[in-house]
Amino acid sequence: MDFEFTPHQKQLRSEVQAFIADHMTAALKAELKDDARGSGPEGEVFFAKIMARGWTAVSWPKEYGGQGGSPMDQFIIEEEFQRVGYKRIGGGGTGAPAILASGTEEQKRHFVPATIKGEISFSQGYSEPGCGTDLAGIQCRAIRTGDTYVINGQKIYTTSAHACTHIFLMVRTDPQSKRQAGLSILLVPIDTPGITVRPLWTIQNEPRAPTLTTYGEPRTNEVFLDNVVVPVSCLLGQEGDGWAVARRGLNLDRVGAWRYLISVMRDEDIVNWLKEDGDRNATLRADPRVRDKVAELWIEGQVARLMTMRSMSISQRGEAFSYEGAAEKVWAPEHGVRATEAISQILGPSAQLLNGSPDALDDGLFAHNLLGAFQSTVNHGSVQVMRDQVARNGLGMPRAGR
Ligand SMILES: Cc1cc2nc3c(=O)[nH]c(=O)nc-3n(C[C@H](O)[C@H](O)[C@H](O)COP(=O)(O)OP(=O)(O)OC[C@H]3O[C@@H](n4cnc5c(N)ncnc54)[C@H](O)[C@@H]3O)c2cc1C
Repeated sequence: MDFEFTPHQKQLRSEVQAFIADHMTAALKAELKDDARGSGPEGEVFFAKIMARGWTAVSWPKEYGGQGGSPMDQFIIEEEFQRVGYKRIGGGGTGAPAILASGTEEQKRHFVPATIKGEISFSQGYSEPGCGTDLAGIQCRAIRTGDTYVINGQKIYTTSAHACTHIFLMVRTDPQSKRQAGLSILLVPIDTPGITVRPLWTIQNEPRAPTLTTYGEPRTNEVFLDNVVVPVSCLLGQEGDGWAVARRGLNLDRVGAWRYLISVMRDEDIVNWLKEDGDRNATLRADPRVRDKVAELWIEGQVARLMTMRSMSISQRGEAFSYEGAAEKVWAPEHGVRATEAISQILGPSAQLLNGSPDALDDGLFAHNLLGAFQSTVNHGSVQVMRDQVARNGLGMPRAGR
């Protein structure tokens, strides 16, 4: 077992850190404060420079616009950019990983390079009002008529449906089917006639969460599909095989630099705050109870990082996760909840005030983190369900009789 980064990996990390120090201007920081994907003018210039360095989608195949590098190199790059609140770095997410795993040659060539450049982006259309955890109960239907599918149904919690170009849509293509059988994935342009996107505001909308807070999404969406007609070429993988197609892409959502950092950066927030000048900071950092708690949180955060590194190492060996992604999706978000609760107790009531209040600490950062930490235990699969996967796939226990 070797926990050490290679000389090449250390060098890469230093290069990325130096690049960020050189190019993270005050104007770019101001832009990222409202939009962590950096789609404003400064962000576009920054992204072009990152592309020129070959630092996007590093581990993706060269023939589809990636760099053909290793998942660990990609992790190092993503970790450094995420740490400064910049999220537009290719890697996991919905869409391209599943297309690389299950798409036709034409789909790979059409979607993957454009995803890397940010010209195409996917929202994930799985959850429905009647089924979130129990996805096998999906009702949204796509009926094939000749060379087209006609889609009718509703999706919920479709985060970024208002800002994406496509929806990665799980539908029932066989109306007689039950549970997982008969589901398919369609890659549907979001501007197809018959699609209506309606906002579903999150607890972090009013006032808006600063960019670097946990989760931090002000909005998710409801999506209504009313006689939406798409060509059969939108199908990803085989008709009726949608469950397996989705699973090939999903685990990549649950692991990676973003997933662990949104929880673990909370430890850094409190340590940085305690180290700042000020009477209150000095009193608190001298308190043995505070020091013990902060040290304990930091240790938990290091465990989260090691779990992520193990997932990266599995991915680097080209192996599949059995329970590891699920275990990480329990530990990191729950660490985030423990950390944000402890921090609000250490800092007292002013840490529970949101931005906009004159007495809020650090522009409401700590209060927003507390709210976002709970969302993070639900999205991409709830921690309860992830525990069940660990019990079954990691511990070999039978399916629970619920
Ligand atoms: C902020 C946010 C963003 C999201 N973004 C997206 C998105 O982009 N695309 C998308 O498709 N979905 C998205 N979701 C939906 C998310 O994946 C679901 O909310 C989640 O799967 C839970 O489904 P549910 O809300 O219907 O709760 P339910 O399935 O009704 O579950 C309610 C509770 O029961 C527990 N539970 C259910 N079944 C079991 C079981 N078998 N064992 C133990 N406990 C169980 C759950 O853990 C949960 O605590 C998002 C959710 C949130 C909160």
